[in-house]
Amino acid sequence: MNIHEYQAKALLRDYGAPVSDGRAVTKADEAKTAAGELDGPLWVVKAQIHAGGRGKGSFKEADAGDKGGVRLAKTVEEAAAEARRMLGRTLVTKQTGPAGKQVNRIYIEDGSGISRELYLALLVDRKTSRVAYVASTEGGMDIEEVAEKTPEKILTFSVDPAAGYQPYHGRRIAFMLGLEGQQVKQCVRLMGILYQMFVDKDMSMLEINPLIVTDKGDLKCLDAKMSFDSNALYRHSDIAALRDETEEDPKELEASKFDLNYVALDGEIGCMVNGAGLAMATMDIIKLYGAEPANFLDVGGGATKEKVTEAFKIITSDPNVKGILVNIFGGIMRCDVIAEGVVTAVKDTGLSVPLVVRLEGTNVEKGKEIINNSGLNVIAADDLKDGAEKIVRAVKG
Ligand code: GDP
Ligand code: MN
Repeated sequence: MNIHEYQAKALLRDYGAPVSDGRAVTKADEAKTAAGELDGPLWVVKAQIHAGGRGKGSFKEADAGDKGGVRLAKTVEEAAAEARRMLGRTLVTKQTGPAGKQVNRIYIEDGSGISRELYLALLVDRKTSRVAYVASTEGGMDIEEVAEKTPEKILTFSVDPAAGYQPYHGRRIAFMLGLEGQQVKQCVRLMGILYQMFVDKDMSMLEINPLIVTDKGDLKCLDAKMSFDSNALYRHSDIAALRDETEEDPKELEASKFDLNYVALDGEIGCMVNGAGLAMATMDIIKLYGAEPANFLDVGGGATKEKVTEAFKIITSDPNVKGILVNIFGGIMRCDVIAEGVVTAVKDTGLSVPLVVRLEGTNVEKGKEIINNSGLNVIAADDLKDGAEKIVRAVKG
């Protein structure tokens, strides 16, 4: 689960990390008052969406201006005007995709004088199964690009969970970032705070880009992105309360209500599969035959007919879906339950695209019988390869 910058900064503030003072507003009328509560003489007006690259982004609507989603203002009035221009408009950045994201909230911050922009992140390194730091002198930039073109400018190492964070970790980062004097001490303290937060709150990613050295020579977190392990949210009601459902894919949101493992993708073939491994293999083979999956979906082992029906409805609600492949290898999952779910969903919502069904395993004969007697226009497949070939042919001709 992701949260907004203003929420991440409140958390940083709670832990004693250096951040600017700021106010979040949802209405243009509130912007002037909010800006007036901050010191100035510089204000930063920032669109709050769950995507990075806002500064270099652009708005779909011409009346939003062409200055991106992070704007500097020299007066309270100017700050309010910028907030008014952005609210309700659609911001497109490298991370939002071409559809962009509607700006429903603005964060107005006390502006900082910047002397250097640095990069800092903590994440779970799956190779070492540890929390790792990533630091770079190239802050404010696209870190993937830095990693590709100048990998020597990135420092990364992981922390032994038994020993935890040690001051030498912070000094190592400070040295690599070329910090000096009081900044080294600030860095050692900040890196410890970030590690503590990361572990306390079960984060999967914490990115500060840029981490700045202010014109007064102090370290400050100028931007903050946090992701949390959704499987651990049950023990963090404070974090779960920060969830903003309007930022999520409506199909994924619907799926999460039915406890379905669904991830929206941008291909044309909807997939309903049982088991994460088989779902991955199904996506691979669809690609192998020249098409793209529209989603990942694992209906799970013990899915009910209702759950299968919902899953099928979510797949068909995606306008990009030009064909559906149901691929079930029934072990714990029974083929007749899947068949009943598919038939019910189609009866409820109709079916306007080709449907290929491959059933194998427990109660397969009963499942096939249900589909055959349903009067549905289904293309039957014998195995995974056959199913993938048939659905790609049905969609692509
Ligand atoms: P992002 O584009 O979504 O990553 O948004 P950021 O919060 O990282 O802001 C983008 C850029 O705006 C930063 O890299 C800074 O160069 C600039 N910026 C943000 N806040 C301030 C500020 O307080 N003062 C100044 N001078 N520039 C800022
Ligand atoms: Mn940033």
